[in-house]
Amino acid sequence: MSEYQKQPPPYGMHNPPPSVPPYGPPPNVPPHLLQPQGPPPLSQPRLLVQGQFGPAPSSSICPSCNIPVMTRVEHESTAKTHLFALLLCIVFFPCVCLPYCMDSCQATNHYCPNCGAYLGTYDH
Ligand SMILES: [Zn+2]
Repeated sequence: MSEYQKQPPPYGMHNPPPSVPPYGPPPNVPPHLLQPQGPPPLSQPRLLVQGQFGPAPSSSICPSCNIPVMTRVEHESTAKTHLFALLLCIVFFPCVCLPYCMDSCQATNHYCPNCGAYLGTYDH
């Protein structure tokens, strides 16, 4: 072992402390630009109330997840559905189950596909 490499001490063993900028806003920046950029705070969740949903899945903002979702719809029999069935029972009995098969005779409930929260109802 004739070779002997003397390793120089590596540089940068200790970093100089980072220069801390002085606190305070820069003088030529308006104060409203110093606010952190982000979505404006929602005072209340934009919950779509009844009447703003359609019979088909629609985009909405889930108040629980707070994200835009495409609603999941479920049809529910309402009093009108039973009323239609009753009328059809009187008029033409074989059609008595028709209102339960027709979406237009049923209320359409919209749910969040993410968390399953109830978002609203579309009634005819
Ligand atoms: Zn949700």
